[in-house]
Amino acid sequence: MSAYPEFVPNLIAGADCAAADGGRVEILSPHSGQPIGMLARSGAADVKRAVSSARAAQPAWAATPGVRRGEILHAIANALEARREELAAIVAAEAGKRLPDALGEAGAAIQCARFFAGEGQRLFGRTMTSGTPHRWAMTIRRPCGVVGLIIAANTPAPNFAWKVFPALICGNGVVLKPAEHTPASAWFMAKVCEDAGLPKGLLNVVQGLGAEVGPPLTANPGVDVISFTGSTRVGREIAETAGKDLKKVSLELGGKNALVVCDDADLDNAVHWSRLAAFSNAGQRCAASSRIIVFDKVYEAFAERFAEAAKSLKLGVDDDCDLGPVISARQLGNMLAAVERARAAGVSVLAGGARASDPGLAEGFYMQPTVLAGADPAAKIAELELFGPIATLFRVGGFEEALAMANRSPYGLTASIHTLDVDRALSFAERVETGVVVVNAGTHGSEPHMPFGGVKASGNGTREPGTEALDVYSELKDVYVNVRPERV
Ligand code: NAD
Repeated sequence: MSAYPEFVPNLIAGADCAAADGGRVEILSPHSGQPIGMLARSGAADVKRAVSSARAAQPAWAATPGVRRGEILHAIANALEARREELAAIVAAEAGKRLPDALGEAGAAIQCARFFAGEGQRLFGRTMTSGTPHRWAMTIRRPCGVVGLIIAANTPAPNFAWKVFPALICGNGVVLKPAEHTPASAWFMAKVCEDAGLPKGLLNVVQGLGAEVGPPLTANPGVDVISFTGSTRVGREIAETAGKDLKKVSLELGGKNALVVCDDADLDNAVHWSRLAAFSNAGQRCAASSRIIVFDKVYEAFAERFAEAAKSLKLGVDDDCDLGPVISARQLGNMLAAVERARAAGVSVLAGGARASDPGLAEGFYMQPTVLAGADPAAKIAELELFGPIATLFRVGGFEEALAMANRSPYGLTASIHTLDVDRALSFAERVETGVVVVNAGTHGSEPHMPFGGVKASGNGTREPGTEALDVYSELKDVYVNVRPERV
């Protein structure tokens, strides 16, 4: 992959740089398992420098009118559009994706940039009535200062866009820590931002391992907000550290998402969406359908067709493939161990269940699309997020049982129901404990102008992106103005 940089540096104070102590770590291709480059293995000293740079650049950016900030974001969107193929090639190489998927993700990131560019013309507050005569009461938005952003590897370009663009439009300085598996796409996008006119030093990228860069960033007193996309385990650690300093924290965490197939569902549509929602992006989506809850009456027919669909999927990164590898050997190992534990507990494997051994795939981190059945709903396989192409089927007698099963999860990110009955669909939408509900499609549904996020262990109540992301990256200030009519 010629477009992939041999060394992926930090971007601090407008310049590419190695880690202060010269540390480096290998980047492996998830597709081949082979090294494709090295990234800077940064630590506390690099984080400190990046935060200083963001702090120094932020006041001038905050003083730049929102409309002008929006024009710069428009220029960034155009520059990303012009370099979309380069970005997609980097994403495809480091995340192990098909080029068309990487191009699609680059497109989603650009859409997000355009949405937040437009918000520069709004950045709305509210004007309200006051209880005092001759007094105006209103709110205005102010930047928070410097924000620390930590993102996951699953869709690296949109993950960058969802946080960086709302943070910038609100007038903040940024220190971004990309996932160690996908460092080059974040570095590339940040360079494009600077080339398109973003003031140098405002957006800094610190590469490295989560445990070495994350904690010094979260604990840095010069960081006002921490926004994190990743696992619930790490999210809890971040909330604990940031909580000590009363920092504002936004957590977009894991999911174990339920897709319900009722007895009146259009079965072709239900199989189609279940396949996409469980296996696309190799199941590495926080919103993946990993629990499929099927009414007894249609269970056998659905299970047979869904397992066949899983077996028919083509693995690889060529354009005609359906799913690629998972991001790392560790991730693959966790999945294989989980499937083995489930098998030992009597769970049936209806499809997959092993590492792919086909020539050309065996060295990569490929997990066969896997369908499990007969698990105890209280078992780990039913509760733990595996973040890979593994779906577990559950059989239920009717609507109330399906709803209870869907809600029987520590997570609450997304859910979907397949039914032609509007009462069932809307009752489910009201009563399922998630932040997103979908009717007659997959469990995903993240458009850049819509708020995304979950309840329970899937987040801490914030929503990004949409205009709701402005609440994460700005402070509301009340302004009261007393008018003196006697002076008119
Ligand atoms: P992860 O939590 O291991 O890593 C995510 C990021 O956190 C990476 O950049 C990593 O380097 C960093 N990190 C790791 N340890 C850290 C620490 N101690 N302190 C600070 N940062 C640290 O998650 P992952 O396995 O890479 O990603 C998958 C998870 O992300 C899944 O749980 C998935 O559901 C979740 N996710 C959620 C959303 C959402 O919007 N809710 C979107 C995508 C992914």
